[in-house]
Amino acid sequence: MENKEEVGQWYALVHAKCARCRKGRMFEPGLIRQKMFIRCEYCDLFYERHPGYFYVAMYVSYAMNVIEVIAVGIATFFFSGGSENIWLYLAVISTFTVLLAPFNFRYSRVLHMHFLDPGLKYQPGIAEQSHRIKNQKVA
Ligand SMILES: [Zn+2]
Repeated sequence: MENKEEVGQWYALVHAKCARCRKGRMFEPGLIRQKMFIRCEYCDLFYERHPGYFYVAMYVSYAMNVIEVIAVGIATFFFSGGSENIWLYLAVISTFTVLLAPFNFRYSRVLHMHFLDPGLKYQPGIAEQSHRIKNQKVA
């Protein structure tokens, strides 16, 4: 009997799960050390699908960074009571840019794999199929 337990898209995004099976982890635990697994532990998907695959993630990261800079700039304006000190904005925005870099790195790749790769779709039963094939090879 096949176990086709579906995993929600939001859960897979937030927990940085594989875009094809939504079960395997894409990154090792911890936000500081950004180590990505080479293959999915469940469906055996090779994450860097071709050379330069993650260039698109660089643009996603850039877009995320622009949104964050605008949001932090507006927040700084309101929390400082409308300050016009450019150094205050530069200091706050620079700090947030550095602090959010690991987050951007990770989630730009996750967003890229989940939404911007037309050849990569969610396949609910793929993890069990791959597992069965692996066991057949061993036996
Ligand atoms: Zn997978």
